Amino acid sequence: MRHFPAFLDLAGRTALLLGEGEAIERKAQPLARAGAALRRATRFDPALLDGVALAIGADAAEDELRALSAAAQARGIPVNIVDRAELCSFIMPAIVDRDPITVAISTGGAAPTLARMVRQKIEAALPPRLGALAALAGRFQARLRAALPDVAARRRFLDGVLAGRPAELALAGRAAEAEAAFAQALEGAPAAPVGTVFLVGAGPGAADLLTLRALRLLGEADVIVHDRLVSGAVLDMARRDAARIFVGKERANHCLPQAEINALLVRLAREGRRVVRLKGGDPFVFGRGGEEAQALAEAGIPHEVVPGVTAALACAAETGIPLTHREVARSVTFATGHTRDGRLDLDFAALARPGQTLAVYMGVATIGALRDGLVAAGRDPATPAAIVENGGTGEARRLDGTLGSLGLVAKGVRAGVPALVLVGEVVGRRPPTAPAEAGLAPRPASAGRQEPVLAGQGSGRA
Ligand code: SAH
Repeated sequence: MRHFPAFLDLAGRTALLLGEGEAIERKAQPLARAGAALRRATRFDPALLDGVALAIGADAAEDELRALSAAAQARGIPVNIVDRAELCSFIMPAIVDRDPITVAISTGGAAPTLARMVRQKIEAALPPRLGALAALAGRFQARLRAALPDVAARRRFLDGVLAGRPAELALAGRAAEAEAAFAQALEGAPAAPVGTVFLVGAGPGAADLLTLRALRLLGEADVIVHDRLVSGAVLDMARRDAARIFVGKERANHCLPQAEINALLVRLAREGRRVVRLKGGDPFVFGRGGEEAQALAEAGIPHEVVPGVTAALACAAETGIPLTHREVARSVTFATGHTRDGRLDLDFAALARPGQTLAVYMGVATIGALRDGLVAAGRDPATPAAIVENGGTGEARRLDGTLGSLGLVAKGVRAGVPALVLVGEVVGRRPPTAPAEAGLAPRPASAGRQEPVLAGQGSGRA
């Protein structure tokens, strides 16, 4: 971030405007709305800066503008010369005004046109009377604190009210009714909140592969309990002041044993917090979400499961491998290569039948046993197979080979990167035009590319 955003209180303070014309008028308007006293001049004089909180110049002679910039900066007064980045000590954002809600947008000076486009999107997304709703909540602030001294209880109450009837009324312009509905809700609010745990699928990594429900819950969470597979991009979507607890798990290197994670979730909920247990992909696909849900049920904690895009779907989509395909694959199986005792306990006879797709999670470490089991059960070693790293992150890498060469393919997998094994006829089928080639999805060069060394290694075992 090149510029630090902040909101200035200019009420009753003086702002200097140097210049005469349209550009300076456009700056005068928001300053006046913020309650600043405007001091106007067409020629610069150092005395003009006395008592000034902020100065803006435009539509004036070059030497006047330079003098203003230099003098203001020497005196520590924030100064902006319109369209002259090198003479500015601050930049003016594009503004969405829903007073008292203000959204300021900056591209750091890189692309003001883009800032205007972003502003239009935000303008369209925010109801016109959003400010009235914020003002309503503001009027109740003191009463709310008195009635609900507990922060979590207050937040829970506001989450309900700001998405409920009082908000509907305020946004519809029915101010008096909104006021009454707010007061009525406050009377019935429970002082001691009951905690809830949401087991939320974070998807494979890209923030825009979150579900809308996951996004909303992330915005409302008091605490976020997450593990290693959850990307920074997804965590950035969470409420800024939500507490974050990392319980990172790595295969064979569990930072926090599952029983302790379960106990933690129960404890946080009993403290009355709104807990989001964020899990990579889908919580119920090899995520031990089932165990957590059971522990919560046994402890009598209200909980809800929110599905996410699981790795197999993300890997398939990003590398253009259809998991099922007419004639070629009529079913798809999600299996795990994770073992407790080093032995792969899979139904190889069932998994080896042709005409189906197999997606193996945590399969790289035990790839040899998977290959041997499938081949021994009759699967053709020439069956196409691939390993996909980082699927659904926008940086997927696809390593191609065959069932027989999977051991060799796996050697190309980078350490510490999540990778999924796909086996089946569909892997060999490439759509006539891959999405990236059609210009539909921007992807790095490595995504979806055949690895020349590993592709088509034949059927020999690695
Ligand atoms: N609940 C998760 C899976 C957790 S098990 C889900 O639904 O996706 C962890 C395994 O998932 C990893 O070892 C890897 O095999 C797979 N995995 C998770 N994220 C992945 C990704 N972005 N790309 C490829 N494989 C991934």
